[in-house]
This record gives sequence, C-alpha cells and structure tokens, in this order.
Amino acid sequence: MSAEHPYSFFASVEKSFDKAALFTKWDTGILEQIKACNSIYSMRFPIKRDNGTIEVMEAYRVQHSQHKLPCKGGIRFSEAVNQDEVMALASLMTYKCAIVNVPFGGGKGGIKINPRNYSVYELEKITRRYTSELVKKNFIGPGIDVPAPDYGTGEREMAWIVDTYASLKPGDIDAAGCVTGKPITQGGVRGRKEATGLGVFFGLREVCNMPDVMKRQGLTLGVEGKTVVVQGLGNVGYHSAKFFREHGAKVVALAEFEGAIYDPAGLNEEAVFQHRKATGSILNFPGATNLAKSSDALELECDILIPAALENVINGENAPRVKAKIIGEAANGPCTPEADEVFIKKGILCVPDMYLNAGGVTVSYFEWLKNLSHVRYGRMEKRFTENLNTHILSQIEELSGKKVSDKERLAIMHGPEEVDLVHSGLEETMITATREIMEIWLTNPEIPDMRTAAYVSAINKVGTCYAELGIFP
Ligand code: NAD
Repeated sequence: MSAEHPYSFFASVEKSFDKAALFTKWDTGILEQIKACNSIYSMRFPIKRDNGTIEVMEAYRVQHSQHKLPCKGGIRFSEAVNQDEVMALASLMTYKCAIVNVPFGGGKGGIKINPRNYSVYELEKITRRYTSELVKKNFIGPGIDVPAPDYGTGEREMAWIVDTYASLKPGDIDAAGCVTGKPITQGGVRGRKEATGLGVFFGLREVCNMPDVMKRQGLTLGVEGKTVVVQGLGNVGYHSAKFFREHGAKVVALAEFEGAIYDPAGLNEEAVFQHRKATGSILNFPGATNLAKSSDALELECDILIPAALENVINGENAPRVKAKIIGEAANGPCTPEADEVFIKKGILCVPDMYLNAGGVTVSYFEWLKNLSHVRYGRMEKRFTENLNTHILSQIEELSGKKVSDKERLAIMHGPEEVDLVHSGLEETMITATREIMEIWLTNPEIPDMRTAAYVSAINKVGTCYAELGIFP
C-alpha cells in the first residue's frame, strides 16, 4: 500500500488467504512464510526512444515462493503495473500452481508502459533490456524463474526473451526452457491457444459429473443439454463456448461489450465470431434476439454462466439478480467478495478462477517439460502405437470375422500427436484438481464456498512442502 495506491491488491489476497488458513492446521510461522513474497526485484533502466529522447522504465519481477523451482508467472506490459500488483499476482500464481499440481513456485513480472504508445522496435529494445536485467540478477532461467505472456505481451515478446537469454548464456542446452508461450518454431507447444478455455470446460464438466453436487444445484448429471451463457468472445470465452457446444450443451447467450445476443436453440460461437468480424458487432445475428445492455446476459435464466471478459462484473449490485445455478469463473476476478456472499445465500455454486482458468499455466508446464526433454511430444510413441493398434485390430477382425467402419478404424489406429497429449494432460490435471477441491469442501461443512476450499488446497500443499523441507537454520 502507498499514498499513490491506497488499495492494496496484495493485502486483499492476504485477507482471502487468512480466511482460508483458519481451516488448516499449520502454525503461524509456516503460514507467514507461505504468504510472504520471497524476492522482489524492482528495477529502473533507460531506453532511447525512436525520436532520440531517453525514457526511464519502471519494471518488476517478483518471486513469491521458491518452495518449488522454477518460479512461474507472466510478464505484463500495462500502465497500471506497480509493485503491489505484481506481488499479489505472483502470490496468486503460487496458489494456482499448487492447486493444479504444477510443480512451480509463483512469480510475476511487469513493465509500467502502455505498449500501444511504443513502436515495435522500441518494444523489442525494452523487452530485451528487461531480460538482460533479469539475467544479471539471476532472476530468469529454466531452473530459476520462467516467465510467460500476460496482458500486453504474447508470442512475439517471448521469442525476444528466449533469444536474449540464449545469447547471454551460450552453451546452455536448456535455454529454450527460460520462458513459455513461445511460437512453435522457437520451442512452443501445440495446444496452448485453446488451453484456458478447454481447462474451463474440463473443470466444469467434472463438476457436472458429480451426482451429489448436481443434486444440490437441482441439475441433471453431465454437460449434455445444459444451457450456458458466456460473457466475452475473446480467446477464453470463444474456446469455452466451443467445447461446451461440441459436447452437447446449448450456448443460449453470448455477450460482448457492444451488447449481447440470445437464442434458446443455441448459438454457434464460430458463426457469431464471423458475423462480428464482418459487421463489427455481435448484435443482429440471424435468428437471435438482441439484448441492448450487454450485462443483462449475466442475469439470464441458465444452468452455467461463464464470465470470460473482465474483473468485478458480478458484484453486490447485480448478484441478487443472477439466475444461473453454476458460475464458472473463466476470467480473473469476475465476481467480487460481495457477490460471493450472495451466492452462498442463494445456493449458487461459484467455481473459482484460481484453478478453473489454470489451463494456460498447465500447458506452460508441458511446454517447459518439452524444452527440457528436447523432443516433441508424440515423436517417440506415435508410430509405435499406430502399428500396435493396427495389429490388434486386424487380429480382432480376423478372429471375429467382422470389420469395423472406416471411421472407427481411424479412431482406433490413431497414435498420439503433440496436441492430443497436451489436451489429455490438461484433462487429467483439471479433473484431479476439481476432485481435490471438492473433497476438501464437501468433507468440511464449515468451509463456506469452493473458493475458500481452493485456497485451503493450496495452503495445505505449499505448507506440506515447507514442513517437509524443514526450515533452513
Ligand atoms: P481477450 O482480450 O481475448 O478477450 C476478452 C473479450 O472480452 C474481448 O473479446 C472483449 O471485447 C470482451 N469484453 C470486453 N469488455 C466486455 C464487456 N463489458 N462485456 C462483454 N465482453 C467484454 O482476453 P482473454 O485472453 O480471453 O482473457 C479473458 C479473461 O480471462 C481475462 O480476465 C484474463 O485475465 C483471463 N485469463 C486468460 C487466460 C488466457 O490464457 N488467455 C488465462 C487465465 C485467465
């Protein structure tokens, strides 16, 4: 907290942590260590702008916890970056990784700039200089701290980072593992783009497959036939809608900032996306009804509401009017603490962001593993599996005297490609995390909501790690 930033995001994360810590058995010392930000690197460096002027950059990298190495977390380019925000986001990464069993500590970085105000050449200089500052202080490396994209950064910036790192560390055979979210040609992994939306789907599908939970929510088992409303048709919202539709759910409404559309027969996200691209608006989609006020979509009758756009969209004011039975927090922080109180009273199940949108970091973990193993997923086993499956199938056909259809033949023989293995690893990760959190929640009636149960899951895992590590004398 500072005079400039009277509200502390980090303090609010600590508050949620303390609330959940009451449901754990760790002594105060361990809890204080879990909460603390271990290393904070605040830096200033000069950049020469295209017009010849010199500008001083304000940038940060925070390693919240080194209970597992490397630390992991994105780098954001935003005018709102400040030390408190980076500390809060780094701590949330520790908890997120612990919940989904990704063996990393939490980290986060930021540069206080609006990238739109800089040329590509200037952005490259800033990114490369930031990376070399991290190298100088040993704040980056495949075994130390591995950044990733966040607001205002993407594949391009990650490619600059890996190139700068590799040139400063000649002979480091694992240099590609110093950052994730890279283009495929620079060591990236297939399946990253859809990872967060697919993770949202896998997490919510698991919740929908839990008989006790569905009974409590007054819903039938499974995803099929469920009505879904999605806010935000960006990367996460688009893919969440796509996977729900492909698995038999009906996406009855889609909301963008210019308005929302509703069709009880179900919307196809790709057709809506193309319509928006062609007309500049989601509104007037053939067959659908316009909702002039975008936020009205949040109050529609539906089984699952997926806010996948911005933070704080469901708050104390509109939460009482939300009619969804389940809310899947695909965005970061879409529901405020006041909304959480309303959900508890109304019996709405809110599946928390901290783990539900962890698909990105999970697939980043797979990218890092790929970089360290120096081999594309599937390369070793694809052909072997296909040969074996062909052999098994021909034996079955010969013994039974029957032939399978061509479609079935293709499905049975298919050996895994990289994207298949990445999706399957993500599915396993999200199912396991959902079950672990539910187990904590449903076996402890004192825990008020799934968000608190997720924190308890994180605290227990990091706490066990510290306790078993022993505290260095
Ligand atoms: P994005 O920019 O691709 O999509 C956001 C979409 O929301 C845009 O299409 C935008 O027009 C729309 N939008 C903006 N204001 C709106 C409003 N008032 N009502 C309705 N729609 C509105 O971003 P994204 O990558 O899909 O991320 C969405 C959220 O998910 C963010 O909170 C982000 O932090 C979180 N998240 C993203 C990832 C990831 O891998 N991309 C991972 C974890 C969390």
